Amino acid sequence: MVSTILDSYRRRIDYMRISVTDRCDLRCSYCTASRFENLSHDDILRYEEIERVVRAAAELGVKGIRLTGGEPLVRPHLDALVRIISDIPGIEDISLTTNATHLAKYASALKTAGLKRVNISLDTFKPERFQRICGRNALGQTLDGISAAQEAGLYPVKTNTVVMRGVNDDEIADFAQKSLSDGWHVRYIEEMPLTGPENTREMVSIAEIKAVIENAFGSLEPCGPAAGLGPAKYYRLKGASGTVGFIAPMTHAFCEDCNRLRLTADGKLRLCLLRDDEVDLRSAIRRGADLAELKDLLLKAAQLKKERYDLAGKASGLERQMWQIGG
Ligand code: SAM
Repeated sequence: MVSTILDSYRRRIDYMRISVTDRCDLRCSYCTASRFENLSHDDILRYEEIERVVRAAAELGVKGIRLTGGEPLVRPHLDALVRIISDIPGIEDISLTTNATHLAKYASALKTAGLKRVNISLDTFKPERFQRICGRNALGQTLDGISAAQEAGLYPVKTNTVVMRGVNDDEIADFAQKSLSDGWHVRYIEEMPLTGPENTREMVSIAEIKAVIENAFGSLEPCGPAAGLGPAKYYRLKGASGTVGFIAPMTHAFCEDCNRLRLTADGKLRLCLLRDDEVDLRSAIRRGADLAELKDLLLKAAQLKKERYDLAGKASGLERQMWQIGG
């Protein structure tokens, strides 16, 4: 029987983000500090272990699953995991966050397996800048991945752009233009200072980004999301078939609407992106916990969710960085 996860602030938890690997083929400056060590093969949850967590979560009313990483498409046979999850009763929506460097190869198989939609990280349209931000130039592959996702019928394809002052803030209008010319659903994200004290760039706020777009194209009209229940606020430019979305973790905390739990690649249930509290599900699974025990752990974990994230205290000092959490 399906029941519900309510945390102690009466927020309903119906969404889980699952990191399938901490490995990534890019090294984006805002995500990865210079020194890091990857998990070993045995540390990472196997697909059948992820399945057990999702089965327990689905029985507690979780309906949406997002696969992320690291870069989820560097893990072999991701379509097999999508198929496993899409067969679990109660799961209505499976989505993927990816840098799309491998998406052209896999988009069609993922769609067939049950993937509904993708969010694709893209911070620039300039090859040499891509190289500087992400450690290598994969712009062509990412753009091919976006086209392949659209052709495969993964809908909507949303892009995520972390806006960085003095790095790519001169491309804000170029992204918004894509909502007009190509029907893209573009989203801008405020940069969170998570890579340590060397990242002292002044963040570009959503208010600033909006002003640049309105200056270039006229007013943004509020609209609903093309899909999804995340924290983005959506708008449309006059005459655009695509949308413009904003995610403001720095200037507009969205904790009151938090509906999610995160599972790290090594099987820790993380209660908040910006807090280090975690519950170890992998140990429970590997000592043979049954579905009832896993459900009990999920329910208890949800009670540990705090009311708000601790940006001031934690943003520069998280024990895990985004590539290890699954952003
Ligand atoms: N490799 C995949 C990708 O590139 O989409 C999935 C993982 S990546 C950590 C997920 C998202 O986290 C990306 O959209 C990225 O823009 C966002 N992200 C990572 N570090 C961030 C930061 N410091 N501030 C804001 N967003 C960040």
